[in-house]
This record gives sequence, C-alpha cells and structure tokens, in this order.
Amino acid sequence: MLIDTHCHLTSPELRPAVEAVLARAAAAGVTRMLTVATDPADLAAALELAAAHPRVGVIAGIHPHEAGRCGAADLDALAAAVRTDAAGPRRIVAVGETGLDFHYDFAPRPRQEEVFRAQLGLARDCGLPVVIHARESEDRVCDILAEYPALAGRVVFHCFSADERVAARALALGCCFSFTGVVTFRKADTIRAAARSLPPERILLETDAPWLSPEPHRKVRPNEPALLVHTARSLAATRGESFETLAATTTANARRFFRLAEE
Ligand SMILES: [Zn+2]
Repeated sequence: MLIDTHCHLTSPELRPAVEAVLARAAAAGVTRMLTVATDPADLAAALELAAAHPRVGVIAGIHPHEAGRCGAADLDALAAAVRTDAAGPRRIVAVGETGLDFHYDFAPRPRQEEVFRAQLGLARDCGLPVVIHARESEDRVCDILAEYPALAGRVVFHCFSADERVAARALALGCCFSFTGVVTFRKADTIRAAARSLPPERILLETDAPWLSPEPHRKVRPNEPALLVHTARSLAATRGESFETLAATTTANARRFFRLAEE
C-alpha cells in the first residue's frame, strides 16, 4: 500500500481520464492520492474531484510560478477556502505547493517571497502542514522557514532534488522530504546520496504526475499515480531497505504528516 502525496489530477493531461487513472492507481496498490491545486481556479476543480472520490485529498496553494499573476484577492480567496474547508468535510490537508523557484524566476523574487510568507502564515494560523516547492532556492527557503518555528515538523520539501548538505540543514529544521521519479534517473546520484542520509521517518513518496515519469517508464506521458511503485522500488534499493519496509514506513509517515484517517 502506497500513498501518492503529490500529484496534479486536475491537470489537462490527467483530468479527462481521471476515473481510469484512479482505477489503475488502486490496482497498483496506490490507495490514496493528494492532488495539488496551484491557483484558485484549480482549487475549485480539486475540491470537486475530492468530493467525488474519498481517496483523494487536496493540497491548496499558489505555486511560485503563479506568484506574479496572483494578487491579494487570490490570497484572500485561498485563505477563505482553507478556513471554510476546515469546518468540514475536511478535504484540504495542507497548504502548498508554495516556495521559491530561482531556476525559472517566472515571478520576481521579492513577490515570490511575499506570496510564500503569506501561505506560511496561513498554514500556521490554520494548523496545517506546508508543501514546499524549492528549485535552486533551498537555502533561502530554509532561512525563511527558520522564522516560522511554529511550523517545525510540519513542512515537506516536495520533489527533493538537492544534496546532502541542504538535506542536513532542512532536517535540522524538522522538515520531511518527498521523492519523485527523479530518484530513478541515471544521473541522480547526488539526490540518491541525500536520500540515503535521511532517517526513515522523514521520507515521503510522490509522483508529481503528470510530470517526472519514473524509470523504466520515463518516456511514458503523462505520468500517473499507478507508476509510484517504481519510485518506491528504486528508493528502497537506494536505501538498502525492502520494498515492503519502505512502503509501510512512507505510508505511515504520510498518514501522520497530513493527518489522514486510516482507510
Ligand atoms: Zn507539483
């Protein structure tokens, strides 16, 4: 049994065939999925999907790529949606993905930081965990996270792709680390070394579908939750653990981190 803690089921690549995607996930032992909404319109679609499918939870946020286009009204709408959802039925399990992307720099960095801080404040005030998107920005993200001690232990680096030094720094801040199909890529030795350095209770699994299809299906597009098994196998081999041990640990970690009920 596996939990895909980060996928985009409302993306144009997955949404039209979502019933089949969910059926294949169940057949592959991926019993639960968290779909990430990257802006307010996407959130409406994600909540609708979760209402129809109890095995789907929602992560609600404004992606750093959208930080330039999203204004105060969008942040207010996000906060209102999170607060409304908290009254029940609770479908939003975390705030994110939020953070800083210094690789693409689609939004000016000061604006990315403002939108990031607004979402950290929202998560803290609502008692929700945070899903981080950091690309070539991990140290700045850690600097900012250190200003939010109330969130210690409640932050996950999604698609962790940095080295052991950064992992150690985020580990000291209490963060968790989520791994995608990137760990199966031939050239990902640095990421695998970081993955080996982490304690088992801090590791989560995700597909980031429709992107980042794992080997041996790297050419298959779109990626989908059913393919999570390959990432789990690869990560287990990297860490010298059995697939069963890694599956059980990461599933328990996901339930604890996102406060998911047992199914
Ligand atoms: Zn994502």
